Amino acid sequence: MVLKMDRSNELFEEAKKYLVGGVNSPVRYFKPYPFFVEKAKDCYLFDVDGNCYIDYCLAYGPMVLGHANEKIIEAVKEQLELGSAYGCPTEKEIILAKEVVKRVPCAEMVRFVNSGTEATMSAIRLARGVTGRKKIIKFDGAYHGAHDYVLVKSGSGALTHGHPNSPGIPEETTKNTILIPFNDEDAVKKAINENKDEIACIIVEPVMGNVGCILPKDGYLEFLREITEENGILLIFDEVITGFRLAKGGAQEYFGVVPDIATLGKILGGGFPIGAIVGRREIMEQFSPLGAIYQAGTFNGNPISITAGIATLEQLDDRFYKETARTAKILADTLRELADKYNIPAKVYNIASMFQIYFNDKEVVNYEIAKQSDVERFMKYFWGLLERGVFVPPSQFECCFTSIKHDDEVIDKTINAMEEVFKSLE
Ligand code: PMP
Repeated sequence: MVLKMDRSNELFEEAKKYLVGGVNSPVRYFKPYPFFVEKAKDCYLFDVDGNCYIDYCLAYGPMVLGHANEKIIEAVKEQLELGSAYGCPTEKEIILAKEVVKRVPCAEMVRFVNSGTEATMSAIRLARGVTGRKKIIKFDGAYHGAHDYVLVKSGSGALTHGHPNSPGIPEETTKNTILIPFNDEDAVKKAINENKDEIACIIVEPVMGNVGCILPKDGYLEFLREITEENGILLIFDEVITGFRLAKGGAQEYFGVVPDIATLGKILGGGFPIGAIVGRREIMEQFSPLGAIYQAGTFNGNPISITAGIATLEQLDDRFYKETARTAKILADTLRELADKYNIPAKVYNIASMFQIYFNDKEVVNYEIAKQSDVERFMKYFWGLLERGVFVPPSQFECCFTSIKHDDEVIDKTINAMEEVFKSLE
């Protein structure tokens, strides 16, 4: 190993004694062991061996303002002095909810939860409760968190580590989850025809960020909107990644397609745990305490996460969207040029601040094709970059992000690292 990672190695050995696989979330593990982080600032991660990495993982998405953002720190410090959990409502929850409603087209009401997983679990329960139907449609390779309804043919770590279906989930639970390929209109029509009046919702990542970065074909999201409306099916956009990222109002603003319900997370908490379910008023009002569909949480609307969320949304101005999209595009274009120059079969996708390269000669439009990518070559690319001080998520099936702190100097350094890595990829 070119990198000095001795202390990380020691910590990993120690971690394995107490933490399953040495980590608390499977995506964090990669062979032979991950680096352990000491601190982070702006677009940099610093590990316990004194290595510094330009970070394109950004905690899998939330840190779009860079790490240790001053305004968030200041606001959170102030809030900490006032207490960190009350089990009672606060004014700040209203402030953040109003900001969400102002930005996100489908959002008339909000329920804050603690993670994206909780958000999609409750959104699906809401859809089932409102429609009185059991079945849901989910796309192959989509990741909507680690709960039972959706952990089938799942992306992210489940796919990276080779278990897209998890043992421990009863067949009875997932038999109501209909799986179909993304970007395929006929598959949706067929599933709806075969399950007339039984489907509660279609849940979709408008851009699939958990099998890399798969874009919806032109008109596909519009098609989903129309066919769900015609069939009394609720459309759920899982915007845990795309929310506040593709545009102020997320993918629904970017593509101009308004779902019935959306789930949010990541950016919304400014680096603290959060999730949210948002949607039309008459749907949302079916949640308890107004309605009978139960949803609850000790830490829902946690004042620290809410405070960080307010301080984050305040900073997402026009410049933020322009700059993060500009830098991600430069890197995506660079990767395309390098793949060409060095004759490496690859496809690169990019939208707003998201980008990913697939070592694959086919256009990646769905999970089946994504899975055919050369994951070994991807890990060579990953290590090549890491050794040169650039950290991308350690899997072909994740997505890279830029933050507002990735300035031209940082991008130039990254381009140089990419060029060196491509020279060594065969
Ligand atoms: N939905 C999507 C689209 C996600 O990307 C993720 C997490 N990567 C989740 C849901 C689950 O969110 P969390 O990890 O906060 O539970």
